[in-house]
Amino acid sequence: MPVTDTSSAVDLCRFIDSSPSPYHAVEEAVLRLTAAGFSESGQDEEAPAPGRHLVRSGGALVAWADEGRSPYAPLRIVGAHTDSPNLRLKPKPDRSSAGCRQVGVEVYGGALLNSWVDRDLGFSGRLVLRSDDGVRVVLVRDDRPVARIPQLAVHLDPGVNEKGLVLNPQVHLSPVLGAGTAQDGDFATMAAVAAGLDPDEVLAFDVMFHDLTPSRLVGIREDMVSAPRIDNLLSCHAGTEALIAAAEGHGPVPVLALFDHEEVGSISSTGAAGPLLERTLRRFVGLDARPIGDSVVFSVDGAHATHPNYPERHDPEHRILLDGGPVLKFNARERYATDAVGAGIVRLAAERAGVDLQSFVSRSDMACGSTIGPATAAVLGIRTVDLGVAQLAMHSARELCGSADPARLRDLLVELFNS
Ligand code: ZN
Repeated sequence: MPVTDTSSAVDLCRFIDSSPSPYHAVEEAVLRLTAAGFSESGQDEEAPAPGRHLVRSGGALVAWADEGRSPYAPLRIVGAHTDSPNLRLKPKPDRSSAGCRQVGVEVYGGALLNSWVDRDLGFSGRLVLRSDDGVRVVLVRDDRPVARIPQLAVHLDPGVNEKGLVLNPQVHLSPVLGAGTAQDGDFATMAAVAAGLDPDEVLAFDVMFHDLTPSRLVGIREDMVSAPRIDNLLSCHAGTEALIAAAEGHGPVPVLALFDHEEVGSISSTGAAGPLLERTLRRFVGLDARPIGDSVVFSVDGAHATHPNYPERHDPEHRILLDGGPVLKFNARERYATDAVGAGIVRLAAERAGVDLQSFVSRSDMACGSTIGPATAAVLGIRTVDLGVAQLAMHSARELCGSADPARLRDLLVELFNS
C-alpha cells in the first residue's frame, strides 16, 4: 500500500463542513466541477456538444466527461448519495413548553437518536420564495448554535445507563431555541433573516439541523476522521475528485451520479430508484448507442468496520479494518448488487492502483443494510458493484473513519473510471 496520504481526508473535512444539507453537498460538488471546466445544463435543455457537463436536480447531480470519447464507448458510472440521517423541521414547527421556545422535528432516515442530544445545532437547507414568474429556490445556512436538545438529567431518569436511553421522536426530540413563548411563523422568519431575505417572501422550506463541531483528523497518530455525514459524503467527495482526475481521457465515459433520499428508500424524483440518471444518460450521453454489457456502475457507500467493542456482531471471517482499504460489499439476497464478475473488475483495478481491498458480508443471522446499488442496477440493467470505505458509528450525528482510506478510494475510482 502507498505511503499514508491524508491530504484527501483533510479535503474531505472541508467538503463535509461545506455540505450540511444534500442541497449544499450538490452545490459544493458543482463548485468543484465547474472550477475544473464542467458546465451546467438544465435538465430540459438540448444535449450539448461532447465535453465536461453536469445536470442538477435539488439534492441530486449527474456529471460526465465525454470529450474525446467514442459515442459507442461504454459507461463507468460512480454513484453515491448526498443525504444523511438527521432531524428535519416540520412545516409549522413553532411550539412552546415550560417557558421554552422550541421547534418540532421529524426524524429523517435511520438516525441514532441519542447522538443528537446535548449538541450545539445549526440549521441549513433551502427556502422557496415567491417570484414574478412562480417560485424560486435559495439555499439557507445558519452556523450559529441556535438550538440544542438537552438530555433528561440522570436523577430524573433512574436506570438510564442500564436500560439505555429511550427517545420518543415526537415527545423527546424537540430542540430548544431559547426561553420564552414561540409564535407561529417564528422559525420561518429566523430562516429568512439568516438568508438575508424578507420573511414575507418565504412560501415554504426544506430545512434540517446539523452538528456544529468542525470535522477533523483525530487519534494519537491522527489516523482517523471524526466528522458528521461521512455516510455518504465521503463517497460524494471521492467520486467528485475522481471524475475531475479522469475527465481527460479516451476510453470509457466517466459518469458521476449523486442521488438524494437513499436514507429513506431512494424512491423519489431525485433518488436512485427514480428516472434521473437513466433520463440524463439517454438525453445527454447517448445511452442507447452504448454497450450495456461492457458498462459498469460502482455504487459507493459506507461500509461497517468491525467494531472493537462488539466484534461478535460481525462475521468472523470477514473482519473489516478501519483504514484497511476500500471494501467490496456482498449479500446473497441482493441487498448489495456485487457479483463475482463485478468483484473481479474492481480487484483488477485495485491491483493496478496499488490499493488493498477488503470484503464485507453480514453475519448470516443478522439483517443486512442496503444502498443505491440494487436500485440503480434494477433501473439501468447495467452490472453494478457495491463498495465503499469502512467506518464506525454509521448514522450517528458524528461518525468515524480512517484518514488514509479517502485517498485510496479516490485512487481506486480514478482507475475504475479509466479502465
Ligand atoms: Zn449510506
